[in-house]
Amino acid sequence: MTIKTQNPATGKVVKTFEAHTDAQVDEAIKASLAAHKVLRDWSFEKRAKAMNKAADILEDEAERLGEIMTLEMGKTLKGAKAEAKKCAWVCRHYADTAEDYLADEMIESGASKSYRKYLPLGPVLAVMPWNYPFWQVMRFAAPALMAGNTGLLKHASNVPQCALAIEDIFKRAEFPDGAFSALLIGGSKVERVLRDDRVRAATLTGSEPAGASVASICGEEIKPTVLELGGSDPFIIMPSADLEEAVKVGTTARTQNNGQSCIAAKRFFVHADIYDDVKSRFVEAFEALNIGDPMKEDTDIGPLVNKDGRDTIAKQVENAIKDGAKRVTGAEAIDGDGYYFKPGIIEDIPESSDAYHEEIFGPVMLLFKVKSLDEAISIANESPFGLGSSVWTTDKAEQEKAITRIEAGATFINSMTASDPRLPFGGIKRSGYGRELAAEGIRAFCNVKTVSIA
Ligand code: NAP
Repeated sequence: MTIKTQNPATGKVVKTFEAHTDAQVDEAIKASLAAHKVLRDWSFEKRAKAMNKAADILEDEAERLGEIMTLEMGKTLKGAKAEAKKCAWVCRHYADTAEDYLADEMIESGASKSYRKYLPLGPVLAVMPWNYPFWQVMRFAAPALMAGNTGLLKHASNVPQCALAIEDIFKRAEFPDGAFSALLIGGSKVERVLRDDRVRAATLTGSEPAGASVASICGEEIKPTVLELGGSDPFIIMPSADLEEAVKVGTTARTQNNGQSCIAAKRFFVHADIYDDVKSRFVEAFEALNIGDPMKEDTDIGPLVNKDGRDTIAKQVENAIKDGAKRVTGAEAIDGDGYYFKPGIIEDIPESSDAYHEEIFGPVMLLFKVKSLDEAISIANESPFGLGSSVWTTDKAEQEKAITRIEAGATFINSMTASDPRLPFGGIKRSGYGRELAAEGIRAFCNVKTVSIA
């Protein structure tokens, strides 16, 4: 895959990049290991000072950084600026909490003193996707660096300027040279990095095939991995819910980031008693969305990332309709420059249709009418994925049932699934394993050393 910036709003290639040679990659790995040996001896206070400086840059330059994101992958500029600010939040969160998350934990045993100690592993390779081109990277990098690890970033080939901008932020924040490097390489060059003994672990956010490939190589190399893969999250609305709020939030949950979010609500299960009412409210909300130039302040929906992405979604919708699903509104490509796609809704999706089981990585809502919460949960759990879930009900027993029975890494009641530095984030089933953020995120790439002093 060519490493290039191609503006999804116009389809024009703006800039192409020379891929790094094997020798350049080796240099970066060498520098990463050397930086780890420096960073592991820094106090938490010193690491926090640099991390807070990274946060300052992200906040102060949110406009400039946002423009790079919008140019390369088409998210709205307002969403991109919010992303830069959220990245500052995760940096500050770990600057403030890393020392507590990684404090020695005393354990009573027969010894005079025994405890858990969290120690860094060394260079970690992060293979990252384009959809949240800063956030996905920073939610790995902030805890990794605060723990004393170093980061090697293989970003998606369509967001090289984002990758280089992030590398630059950590340099200007005065982390040791080489503590965070962007490798401009294609997916086929990842194996060589993973098999390098100096690289101690890997994390991948992206598709199942990419995750399976990285995990199998790391399996052979006996290296730990965290995988954050796809999702087809359920959004369940029961009669007791605040319908106005559920529809407003549901529309955002399905369409934010132009519908290209792993934790987007993708399958909507609505109780039969309120189905027609909720459906017409969703139609109204979808038809009111402002589609257009992502750089403009009043745009809600920009283009999809590229032609392939748009064609795939259009095909998934077309196939579902051939299988018997009904188009309620939109859900079709828009002619003209750029990769625009009209957000839409389809219903009556038969179980035999691929759309019933697949992830649709674009602004298409799959709407299901259900007779009960049990039925909603049962269909929700038929999915091969298990990332997030959102359930709208004021009935305590229903809330408890949903929390216990939905097979997912998260259940949000009366709000949409969202990542938050204070809460663990990750999936089960084909959505991956391991957790990012919170204490789990910073401990994921630590050696949990047992210490026993007789
Ligand atoms: P992708 O094709 O898997 O790309 C993700 C990254 O993996 C890119 O850097 C890509 O590099 C690299 N890659 C691709 N194939 C590889 C291979 N065989 N070996 C090593 N690296 C490889 O994913 P995408 O289509 O860009 O992203 C969308 C997917 O990511 C969706 O399924 C979405 O749900 C998921 N996602 C999950 C989360 C989460 O937190 N669970 C968050 C965001 C997105 P190239 O660009 O060079 O191909």
